[in-house]
Amino acid sequence: MKGLKLALIKKKKIIKVKNIEIGRKPIIIAGPCSVENEKQIMESAKIVKKLGADMLRGGAFKPRSSPYSFQGLEEKGLKLLRKAGDKYNLPIVSELMDAKDIKYFDDVDIIQIGARNMQNFSLLKELAKINKPILLKRGLSGKIEEWLSSAEYILQGNPNVILCERGIRTFETLTRNTLDLNAVALLKTITGLPVIVDPTHGTGVKEIITPMSKAALAAGADGLLIEVHNNPKKALSDSDQQLNEAEFKELMDKIKKYK
Ligand code: PEP
Ligand code: MN
Repeated sequence: MKGLKLALIKKKKIIKVKNIEIGRKPIIIAGPCSVENEKQIMESAKIVKKLGADMLRGGAFKPRSSPYSFQGLEEKGLKLLRKAGDKYNLPIVSELMDAKDIKYFDDVDIIQIGARNMQNFSLLKELAKINKPILLKRGLSGKIEEWLSSAEYILQGNPNVILCERGIRTFETLTRNTLDLNAVALLKTITGLPVIVDPTHGTGVKEIITPMSKAALAAGADGLLIEVHNNPKKALSDSDQQLNEAEFKELMDKIKKYK
């Protein structure tokens, strides 16, 4: 892989976020697709904390395929996410879409860069100027080498990069994406960066999120990103794929032995 240096360092990288060490034992990041209102994020945070998640996720700046879909609460959403994270003592993860909004992310513990922005090079260059951990999702049709090149942009100045496999677009249509666990096992042989797996977007099918979570951990993933909502049927985004409390409990029970 020509032109890659920092992303290929094999020494295991442990990324500390508050009292959590990413890269040691598998961690669980859970929470709704989007922050919708105070009640929704508080109830969702309560559920994920009770069931053993390590961090809380929630989108405030949402990349939506349609301009008519809910776009997120933006700055207000981040404030609500922080409030929920503080109440339940959970570090928070949220997506940044545009460098101009980075000013709102001071109190966010991990900045997520979504699949659609994996190759937004001007955004990646801005992330090299800060020290905050970055969760870099794989692009919809990003090759592993291209994904690592994107990581390399951030690593120019910021050593805290976590890779997130979230499925790639293939000819298959019965699942939303094809979760590429080859990538996870392969990355473990070529990079020391932590690799986490998002089986929610990787499958888009509620029924197979738990088995693919087990498979991800068996393949060596350093953690999982799971969408959990207090009332998925009413969710303003990704309502079909978010787990409710009972479904998330079942997932957490079933992955115990893989952790
Ligand atoms: C998300 O995590 O809500 C999201 C939009 O993910 P992706 O960028 O992987 O589609
Ligand atoms: Mn989502």
